[in-house]
Amino acid sequence: MGTDFQVGDHSGQSQRRALLKALLILTAGCGALFFVINIRRGVMVLAYIELGAAIASLLLYVVVRRTPRLRFWTLIYLFPFLTIMMVALHLPQASPTVFLWIYIVPVLCHLLLGPRLGLSVSVFFILVALALFLYKYPDYLYRSGFAEIANIVLSLSVTLAFAYIYERGSHRSRSDLVVMASTDPLTRLANLYRFREAFVHERSRAQRLDTPLSLLVLDLDLFKAVNDNHGHRIGDLVLIHVAQRLRERLRATDLPCRVGGEEFTVLLPDTNRDEAILVAESLRELIASQPYQRGRVSVPLSCSIGVAEWGTDGDSLDELVEAADQRLYIAKQQGRNQVVWEG
Ligand code: GH3
Ligand code: MG
Ligand code: MG
Repeated sequence: MGTDFQVGDHSGQSQRRALLKALLILTAGCGALFFVINIRRGVMVLAYIELGAAIASLLLYVVVRRTPRLRFWTLIYLFPFLTIMMVALHLPQASPTVFLWIYIVPVLCHLLLGPRLGLSVSVFFILVALALFLYKYPDYLYRSGFAEIANIVLSLSVTLAFAYIYERGSHRSRSDLVVMASTDPLTRLANLYRFREAFVHERSRAQRLDTPLSLLVLDLDLFKAVNDNHGHRIGDLVLIHVAQRLRERLRATDLPCRVGGEEFTVLLPDTNRDEAILVAESLRELIASQPYQRGRVSVPLSCSIGVAEWGTDGDSLDELVEAADQRLYIAKQQGRNQVVWEG
């Protein structure tokens, strides 16, 4: 069996996982430390809450190392963590400077949860903290001058806004990078990187649901002559034209991809070999029936296609592509403009 490509990290998950792990270790350490401090101060309720938080953090650390549901477990961590922080703010023994910790809320929430959810969770906890502060020091608003209140509100808003803008920017540039890294710049079809990822995903879906999965390798016939006769620029436009034909004929769940040059692959989920042959035939007919036209230039086209079915022809993408490639070669040998599914 061939080797298969490992699916990469697209959403900054590994960064968030590393941050959450570091936080869990920190929470466990701080929990243990404050347990001792609060025992010595005689604040038993807080001491045991801290101890519980330390133990829970260690258990969560084990889960977070591997879980695919990182966002869920992040919320499981954040809500009790921030609630403990709120309880600590409210305790009569807590000093007013404990409120300074509220500045870490927007930073943590955005880094761990991304822009949208991060903003909602931080706004919620900041409002709770401010309400608790005013409840605890009811005459604060009367005693303090306008400048002092403005300082608190402004500095919190600025921290919140910066955390949001930073996280939204990095979320966008990550998405742009993912699109760039997985798209063929000429035809805007998927590239091989994205195709490999999709194959890994579709194969596990096919295994789980016991559904078929097929693949086509399509190569334009005598394409070198198109470049030689009409120039490289028209050659490029022909490739874009073919990509459009593939898009319009295939289902939304099928994935056409430009492997390179004038060679394309198509991943056909939920499609057995017989159905894949029909799809290949209709693609071949479509391409042959629609020459590329621009002004007075008309470029007749045809293609040859090799078909392979997951399971029958192999398990890995490399094995399937090899089988389909072999059939494509046979199609070329037999005179081109045809679909081959055996041999
Ligand atoms: P066959 O029917 O056997 O496939 O013949 P062919 O001429 O298509 O095959 P060959 O592999 O000899 O030629 C492929 C040509 O595709 C060679 C190259 O000039 C052209 N080509 C590869 N990539 C590009 C591209 O990005 N743009 C253009 N315009 N041409 C390309
Ligand atoms: Mg060719
Ligand atoms: Mg070729």
